[in-house]
Amino acid sequence: MTTSLVTGGAGFLGSHLCERLLREGHRVICVDNLITGNTRNIAHLRDNPEFKHIEHDVTISFQIDEPVDNVLNFASPASPIDYLELPIQTLKVGSLGTHNTLGLAMHKGSRYLLASTSEVYGDPLVHPQPESYWGNVNPVGPRGVYDEAKRFGEAMVMAYHRAHGLDTRIVRIFNTYGPRMRPRDGRVVPAFIHQALANEPLTVFGDGTQTRSFCFVDDLVEGIWRLLNSDTHEPMNIGNPTEMTILEFAEAVIDLTGSSSELLFKQLPTDDPKIRQPDIGRARAELGWEPSVPLAEGLKTTIDYFRAQLDTSGSG
Ligand code: NAD
Ligand code: UDP
Repeated sequence: MTTSLVTGGAGFLGSHLCERLLREGHRVICVDNLITGNTRNIAHLRDNPEFKHIEHDVTISFQIDEPVDNVLNFASPASPIDYLELPIQTLKVGSLGTHNTLGLAMHKGSRYLLASTSEVYGDPLVHPQPESYWGNVNPVGPRGVYDEAKRFGEAMVMAYHRAHGLDTRIVRIFNTYGPRMRPRDGRVVPAFIHQALANEPLTVFGDGTQTRSFCFVDDLVEGIWRLLNSDTHEPMNIGNPTEMTILEFAEAVIDLTGSSSELLFKQLPTDDPKIRQPDIGRARAELGWEPSVPLAEGLKTTIDYFRAQLDTSGSG
């Protein structure tokens, strides 16, 4: 049996990944210290004998007493609110956490996949962003703690690949959304849905003309699965190229929730990227992958999830 270790497996993306790997017949070991994740995200997996959660901080070196075929490193605070609140932990998990998990993969002879991010492109001067673009990142700005941790992580993964021949993959994930995001994690998708369902104003940062390209979680997980099973060691963008302004996104959420919310304009955060769209030519060519879930459909599923959460928490 194939065993996959997923760090950050109790988070939003990690929990979907654990689910997919179990469905593919893997044994799954989730290592997560629950700093931004929650055992609720993996509650439905707990009774599966092939699933195990170890509560541990991956910045502290650890051992696993069984064979491990794949290490998928997803541990990191990921929303701007989280990584601005946890700047040192974010830098440590991207550097020490990546180093420790690479060491584990070396020791076990595992394949290794790093969850990187479109943030490595910073506020991009090339549009859309191909993997060959080196980015425009402010290392000393507030977002630098996340961007540079991921850039360091990528450099470390490539060094292990080149120096030790480790079998590595790097996925650059573009804004992904879906069920199990935290309603108050500050990212635009949960923020707007939460506000729309409460008929509160949607907080648009800046003038809302900045763009993002949103990918539904199932499409992302499919891309990661294909990347894991490919031979590509170079970074791979996985994201949905359908780009829109934050204002257009606010309208879509208001429409789909049937909300009476208005817009409330707030200050644009420092170094907030003005544009972002993945060039997915490499994923198309090498993985035969492209996203298939339209925004309206993915958003509907996500809105249903948030509605159900509000109902069970009794606050909505
Ligand atoms: P998340 O916060 O829901 O998940 C991150 C998980 O990592 C949490 O469960 C958290 O408890 C765990 N974690 C953090 N530090 C840890 C540590 N030191 N030791 C053990 N566990 C730790 O966020 P997410 O959106 O699911 O992001 C998962 C990964 O994907 C992150 O690495 C993130 O940078 C990357 N990513 C996500 C997106 C996106 O759009 N969701 C975009 C780009 C990259
Ligand atoms: N944003 C917004 N209102 C919010 C949260 C975010 O207008 O309540 C904007 C934010 O300024 C950014 C975009 O939405 O331009 C996406 O933000 P998010 O934090 O989701 O992701 P990232 O900036 O990392 O792409």
